[in-house]
Amino acid sequence: MNKLRLPVTLLLGLACAGFVSAETVVQHDVDIDLSPTNGRIEIVDRVRPGAGQEYRFALAPWLALRDLRINDQPAAYSRAGNIYRITLPNGADPEIRFELGGSIPAPSAGDLSQSGNDGVYLPGYAGWLPVGTAERIDFSLKVRVSGGMRAVATGRLIEAQNSDGVYHATFESHWPGEPPSLFAGPYEVNQSQGSTPVVQTYFHPELEPLSKAYLEAAAAYVTRYDALIGTYPFDDFRIVSAPLPVGLGFPGLTYVGREVLPLPFMRKRSLAHEVLHNWWGNGVAVDYADGNWAEGLTTYLADYALSEDDGIEPARTMRLKWLRDYSALPPTRDRPLTEFIGKQHDAAQVIGYNKAAFVFHMLRREIGETAFVGGLRLFWQRHRQRSAGWDDLRRAFEESSGVALGWFFEQWLERPGAPLLSLGAHRVEQTAQGYRVEIEVLQKAPAYRLKLPLQLVTLDGVETRHATIDSALNRLDFELAARPLALQIDPGSEIFRRLTAAETPPIMRDITLDPETLTVIAGSDSEFRDPARELAGRLLDTPPKFAGAEAVREQDRPLLLIADSDQFEKLRRELELETAPQRMSARQTAAAWALRRANGSTVLVVTARDAGGLRQLLRPLPHYASQSYVLFEGSRAADKGIWPVSRGPLYRALDAALRQP
Ligand SMILES: [Zn+2]
Repeated sequence: MNKLRLPVTLLLGLACAGFVSAETVVQHDVDIDLSPTNGRIEIVDRVRPGAGQEYRFALAPWLALRDLRINDQPAAYSRAGNIYRITLPNGADPEIRFELGGSIPAPSAGDLSQSGNDGVYLPGYAGWLPVGTAERIDFSLKVRVSGGMRAVATGRLIEAQNSDGVYHATFESHWPGEPPSLFAGPYEVNQSQGSTPVVQTYFHPELEPLSKAYLEAAAAYVTRYDALIGTYPFDDFRIVSAPLPVGLGFPGLTYVGREVLPLPFMRKRSLAHEVLHNWWGNGVAVDYADGNWAEGLTTYLADYALSEDDGIEPARTMRLKWLRDYSALPPTRDRPLTEFIGKQHDAAQVIGYNKAAFVFHMLRREIGETAFVGGLRLFWQRHRQRSAGWDDLRRAFEESSGVALGWFFEQWLERPGAPLLSLGAHRVEQTAQGYRVEIEVLQKAPAYRLKLPLQLVTLDGVETRHATIDSALNRLDFELAARPLALQIDPGSEIFRRLTAAETPPIMRDITLDPETLTVIAGSDSEFRDPARELAGRLLDTPPKFAGAEAVREQDRPLLLIADSDQFEKLRRELELETAPQRMSARQTAAAWALRRANGSTVLVVTARDAGGLRQLLRPLPHYASQSYVLFEGSRAADKGIWPVSRGPLYRALDAALRQP
């Protein structure tokens, strides 16, 4: 799903704030006539920007400014590209009246705003209202919609009625924030009984049977986060079905693809994530100056917290998956967290969602549960209705814990990369009290300060200890009552670190994230080529580089090989694969698996019986990039998994090393 939401200033390329400052709250009174079937929209917006010299804003290219008045007098503006400027009268509190009109682009145009028979999508950040740079706004929005459709906007629903086939609705927001977002469609509307806030679904008719389950699930998540963080900030929460394959969060509303809503994960993890964005991202807006903290925090307290509800193992599996995905990221594409803005590609998700969520996990371990939750609540109380950055989070957690955390945020946010740990020499001695273990823990410079969990296996059982390391070479020692057998650093994957090859069986992302990957297509007939090229484009995170079959012998670059079964049998020997690939059963029509060659370079093989079988992979296969292999029956994944992993370099057997005193 496309989760990219950026502030209007970034999308429209406005580099700096205008004269209206970020703390100014500007009132917009908006009046709209909308005809979804042909996309026509007429807008009157009355704006009170407060005192200032200039009002500057951007407009979407499909929208025309038809008339402009200041205090009821015709007024002039200047325009450069899509940026407009209006000089304001001195020392007054003027009312600017804009009359705008245009045709919202059809879905095929790939524009930010879309209109068609299935509905209208006008996100606040798409520049369909004259909103000054960096201003926060209060609004009242009246909309009339023809064509038997209903409209819904961010903000509180004040009234709605149907008359003469036209739907009228009024929305208001006194939560100073982003511009209104407006949606329309052939919606059936349902709402929860007696819950605060009111939860509503605006679903396409075929989705109505799902409404009840969504209303209940959303109400439960609102209650959960109310209790954890502080009171839900908006008057209602709405789930709106979208003709587009998206999952987007807006203040008090989530907009989710109609094809996605029936999928079970949507009503669970993804819905929790979208509900939580009402606190992180909408309730407290992101100050993008030092990166976007909201996706990581939302991922940690929604996606991850739900895994934790399921138990220790599911939570650990999620952390391990984050580490595994991160280890597939080539160092050239690694970025510090402070540079993460939004999810434009998979690589950004690996950093901005997963690494950031892991940082919150380590913070919680560092300061403890009480201080962690206290910090979240303090951050919420202090910054709700405002924008905030990583520094504000740091201050809140420092206050709640009473501990200086500058070093923690500096090493995890400002540096790209992750610690790379290994074990050096070790020694075991018998002492008067029992045993003494010494072991060196090494890390590549620059060294991180880490609170490492360790597991010591002794003849008496398993002991868990912690040790703080902060240099390239660290000598740890432990006194034990029973004879030690083995030691494992970070057995539960609690530390964000770069896994080594021994800990990382190859997964598809090793190939799909690497910009060096070469793609070879081998099909017996010409029909195979088109779906193969399309699949390569969808799988790879950067534009594919195609090469001839001879590139299969090139051993030092990652390889994506898309072949039909016959051609694969011919190429198989040339590939000199270290591990034999999975055999397909008779029912399977296609398979994909990642392998590592003897020299460490990676290969992703995708085979299908024929062009038809390959075509059925176009949509599902990219969703399995975290797996080592997946087998398909048609478009259904019949089996998938990660190759087994070895104990890795942070495990050390100790029993052979005992020295007598
Ligand atoms: Zn999100």
